[in-house]
Amino acid sequence: MELKQPPGRWIRSSLRFVSALLFLSAIIYGQSFLIVQCWQQFWISSSVLFQSQWRKFLQLFGDDDYYLYVWGCVLSILVPFWGAGSIFVFMDYYSWPKWILKYKIQPGTNEPVDFRKVIQTAKVVLINQWFLTVPLLHINYYVKKMNHTMPDFSELPTLQRLFFDLAVFLVIDEVGLYYVHRLQHHPKLYAAVHKKHHEWNAPIAIVFTYSTQMEYLMTLLPVNIPAKNCLWFRKGPHIMNPHIVTLWIWYALVHLRGIKNHSGYHFPWFMWPSAHAHDFHHMTSNSCFGKSLVLDRLHGTDKAFRVYMARKKETEEQERVTQISNKLK
Ligand SMILES: [Zn+2]
Ligand SMILES: [Zn+2]
Repeated sequence: MELKQPPGRWIRSSLRFVSALLFLSAIIYGQSFLIVQCWQQFWISSSVLFQSQWRKFLQLFGDDDYYLYVWGCVLSILVPFWGAGSIFVFMDYYSWPKWILKYKIQPGTNEPVDFRKVIQTAKVVLINQWFLTVPLLHINYYVKKMNHTMPDFSELPTLQRLFFDLAVFLVIDEVGLYYVHRLQHHPKLYAAVHKKHHEWNAPIAIVFTYSTQMEYLMTLLPVNIPAKNCLWFRKGPHIMNPHIVTLWIWYALVHLRGIKNHSGYHFPWFMWPSAHAHDFHHMTSNSCFGKSLVLDRLHGTDKAFRVYMARKKETEEQERVTQISNKLK
């Protein structure tokens, strides 16, 4: 026999449900309001703090835009490159610390690295940095001065402007580098332009800027186009014309990313970006031309890499199972 629920009971349970929902929504709204307020507070106080630190920095080192623009940029390239690069070269040369070897993407390669090859690579890198980057920064500085387009350095950019500029740089760099890199692999250009960079099938960190001068100049384009003002117009359309600090951060990030991509190590640490894709590019030369693989996916140039990663995962899984069963024996 079917028991009929009295209508009053049904209304009471619906009311209870609605009031619980309202109560929960009020808590969530209150919490989100608090979070937004805290975030705004944090945003404002960090901006004030950064601004006061920047003024102190200018008082200490002076506000001469030549030194800030040219030599500030040179330092933002050389310090991260040679700082992080030397740590990796040290580890490769001494194969130390031992525990790090298990993170090598191509185990057994560069263990230890050939020191003569390292010196030869470092020489080419230094030529590119001192005979191309430094003069180009000078040219850019004087063009900016002539065009009266040097940004005002006295105040830092807002954090919103900083992140917006960096996001635009990243997108243009990603797209530009993918197509420039594919062009460098064109049979008519490869031998003369890009082959030198691929002399290292298993790269080490400082190989990032080991290239012919032509390749170096071609690669500089996507990194620099959005970061510099348009050279050909006196007060014309600036692409971004960022603050000097944005430029320093951008160059430092680009060089740290390049060092990581060529390091030859994959660290499975939280949020640590993988170097597998570019390492695979050096191994095979015919896939993974981009940095984030978004365009590789679009053009199907990541197929071989996906197969390789699936096989690698399978092998690692099998090894893990064998290890566990050996322990249990
Ligand atoms: Zn490379
Ligand atoms: Zn290549």
